[in-house]
Amino acid sequence: MVSRIIPVEAFDIVVIGGTGDLARRKILPALFKRHCAGQMLDDSRLIGAARRDLDTEGYREYVRDALREFAGELALNEAAVQAFCAHVHYVSIDARGEKGWEDLADLTTQDRVRSFYFSVGPGLFSDIAQRLQSYGMTNEDSRIVVEKPFGRDLETARDLNAQLARYFDESQIYRIDHYLGKETVQNLMAVRFGNMLFEPLWNAQYIDHIQITVAESVGVEGRGEYYEKAGAMRDMMQNHLMQLLCLIAMEPPAKFDPDAVRDEKLKVIRALDSVQPHHIVRGQYTASDGATSYREDVGNERSKTESFVALRCHLNNWRWAGTPFYLRTGKRLSHRDSEITVVFKDTPHSIFGPEAGRHRNELTIQLQPNEGITLGVTIKEPGPGGMRLIDVPLDMSFAEALGPEANTPDAYERLIMDVIRGNQTLFMRNDEVEAAWAWTDPIIRGWEARGDVPKPYDAFSAGPDDAMLMMRRDERDWKGLDK
Ligand code: NAD
Repeated sequence: MVSRIIPVEAFDIVVIGGTGDLARRKILPALFKRHCAGQMLDDSRLIGAARRDLDTEGYREYVRDALREFAGELALNEAAVQAFCAHVHYVSIDARGEKGWEDLADLTTQDRVRSFYFSVGPGLFSDIAQRLQSYGMTNEDSRIVVEKPFGRDLETARDLNAQLARYFDESQIYRIDHYLGKETVQNLMAVRFGNMLFEPLWNAQYIDHIQITVAESVGVEGRGEYYEKAGAMRDMMQNHLMQLLCLIAMEPPAKFDPDAVRDEKLKVIRALDSVQPHHIVRGQYTASDGATSYREDVGNERSKTESFVALRCHLNNWRWAGTPFYLRTGKRLSHRDSEITVVFKDTPHSIFGPEAGRHRNELTIQLQPNEGITLGVTIKEPGPGGMRLIDVPLDMSFAEALGPEANTPDAYERLIMDVIRGNQTLFMRNDEVEAAWAWTDPIIRGWEARGDVPKPYDAFSAGPDDAMLMMRRDERDWKGLDK
């Protein structure tokens, strides 16, 4: 299969915070790969802008280094790296002062799509937005990209939205959630709304429950200071898992257009019921299997921050009344595994009798690693000896079905090109972000008010026992992470 590359007109992308960790690991490699795929025309430019005193040559060296470390095999091609670096420029700026802004303005005078990627902490958003405007770098065709965390509660998110709205129209603001750039996540919409097979069954009448797991085996990895103030609820649940929930539960939009899709996602968040305290489990990893504990990792022996959260929630709407959604995410779990499982109900009557056992169809959407979709189907176990039933997977690993070309682009590649094309479908709108915080805030406030201490769990396990018990009480089991 040969993927189709849609050319884009020459553009400028200014990465503010271009010497930071995110730029190095994600943004620079993503642009390099799009360049290798032929999507960066000759006079398109990547302009790094950050505090560090570098000139363009120094920044090109920095970019080469980043690509060697994070761009995989493509970066072994010296000629490709050289060709990409010819697009790269750098200006040293101070986001809080005036240093460098004239130079940046002089560089960005051409009449073309100009995107400004705010790869800096949210405390600098307002200063940067204001300077972009006062130095005349923006017009109605300019876009800004902002990263998570988008606030730490409803109030701070509203405040950030208001700060940005002073300088940019909502149609120019791209709030990135890289989960939405994952190929399989977009496939959720293709599977649901591109097939006749699933949608008639996609409701409380046929679906017993849906579970979403986003598990990481890594710990806080040098992000301890940030994570300690955030925790799994703010860092993952409020954004990534909420977005997955939206895509799995939303009504079909009338068309695949940014506001039509985002209107439907917003309705899902607004339909969420508040979570009962006995339907939520917080955890914190302890030292095990050679790994240090969360508390050691963040240097706080008394930390009450959760590195794991599992919850059961309900949507108060016609389609989903009575169908629970189970969401869990955590760090230092047994393995890296992100998946969504849709568990269908039992057949209304088993003609095979009780000895055939209980068999349920399950649709598993594997997000990482090994993106793919599996449908569990019940069949007769081959051979003599009566009618015994077994479940077998109808398996569609993308790599197998689509060949090596299915080596799908990184989420950042897809999302950055969407910014340049001006397509906001996969980016969060202001009201979505605020609605997600409005749902999350009371949960976090409840923990804080009670001085709740997360349940300990062994590093490299499946999380705290209470998360298992929560499922068992409902006579269900978590899928995946079976250690
Ligand atoms: P970082 O600290 O590594 O880099 C920050 C960048 O901002 C540097 O280039 C620095 O020079 C620049 N900067 C800081 N103060 C400045 C100033 N006054 N003037 C000009 N430039 C200034 O941070 P990071 O990890 O790259 O994260 C950037 C943003 O992305 C943060 O909001 C973070 O929460 C978010 N984010 C990061 C990751 C990640 O994997 N690193 C993942 C998701 C979201």
